Amino acid sequence: MHTAESIRPASATRVPLARLDNSDSELISELLGAIEGVARSAAFTLGEEVAAFEEEFAAYCGTDHAVGVSSGTEALALSLRALDVGSGDEVLVPTNSFVATAEAVALVGATPVFVDVEVNTQLVTADLLAASLGPRVRALIPVHLFGRTVDMAPILQLAREHQLHVIEDAAQAHGARYRGRPVGSLGDCGCFSFYPSKNLGAWGDGGAVTTSDRQLARRIRLLRSHGEEPRHHHLELGTTARLDAIQAAILRIKLRRLDEQNELRRRRARDLDAALAGILAVPSPPGPGRDHVYHQYVVRSESRDLLREHLSARGIASAIHYPTPIHSSPAFHVANNPPLPVAEHLAQTICSLPIYPSMTDDELELIVAACRSFENRASRHAA
Ligand SMILES: *Cc1c(COP(=O)(O)O)cnc(C)c1O
Repeated sequence: MHTAESIRPASATRVPLARLDNSDSELISELLGAIEGVARSAAFTLGEEVAAFEEEFAAYCGTDHAVGVSSGTEALALSLRALDVGSGDEVLVPTNSFVATAEAVALVGATPVFVDVEVNTQLVTADLLAASLGPRVRALIPVHLFGRTVDMAPILQLAREHQLHVIEDAAQAHGARYRGRPVGSLGDCGCFSFYPSKNLGAWGDGGAVTTSDRQLARRIRLLRSHGEEPRHHHLELGTTARLDAIQAAILRIKLRRLDEQNELRRRRARDLDAALAGILAVPSPPGPGRDHVYHQYVVRSESRDLLREHLSARGIASAIHYPTPIHSSPAFHVANNPPLPVAEHLAQTICSLPIYPSMTDDELELIVAACRSFENRASRHAA
């Protein structure tokens, strides 16, 4: 008996879940040059590269400010602190997300209140959030999960009515748009991760907060570096959570290619949609005014574990994002948590197939053939 996560390709991996920068030797050389520039100037913390990246990333996201921080988790936690969300406060978070969304809330001393998701998009909605509002709720964290944009207009409306902060978790959605506007520019602020496998990935950890609120940007800048301004004046309790200059130098180069890379992901997703429709439950289309940059390509199957074994035996990697809804994980489990049935069912049926910008036609064909033969086998069994 093995758990789903222990399934590893039985044969050599022919199609990985994702391809990272190490598969592109030209890019490696270019990025090594950028690192060398930082090393020769010895400007490892803050300085020109970080400032330039912040300016370019803010422009890309359509905000006045971006603040480079050490991770996506810190982006969320520092945003909450800068908005004075803390002990005694509640923050609504979708249970179908990476654990960090809720972790950041707990780290600042507030309480995450878990909310279910809508089955087709696997995203939180204004109606689901509204049903969980209470007197202690101070903020909402919609997550643009897998790169698909949340329907933000009704959520922003709800937040205005109840005077709540909206922090977008855009850690999987760099470059995605909602009604023409980039994610990260819709709420009070947007939180990004540059973990290596994200659509915009560094060579280590990194993150950013985007906002057009000057005071909020200033406060996050203070908090990420010991509340210090100017040197040796510590205005408030902060921490060490800066984006490294080396990472900023790498990200500046990769940011220039992000739109093209996202378009390649969308193209591969369309290929998979067309080939797999009728075989598996493919991701529903983004819908009008919505977008999807396919950080993950997530299908659903009632025989998910058998599907994964079948793919694995043919050298095709797969994953589950995420096998345990956050509210059921040991770190957050609360005995009296109300059931969140959609997310709980999704966790049993979702499967992330390989998706990455450099996917070849042959790799695509291998994925499609394996899914087809799984379907044929399944229908033979049913007959
Ligand atoms: C990756 C991720 C984070 C956390 O980012 P780190 O850089 O790993 O700290 C937060 N939320 C979501 C949805 C993520 O995917």
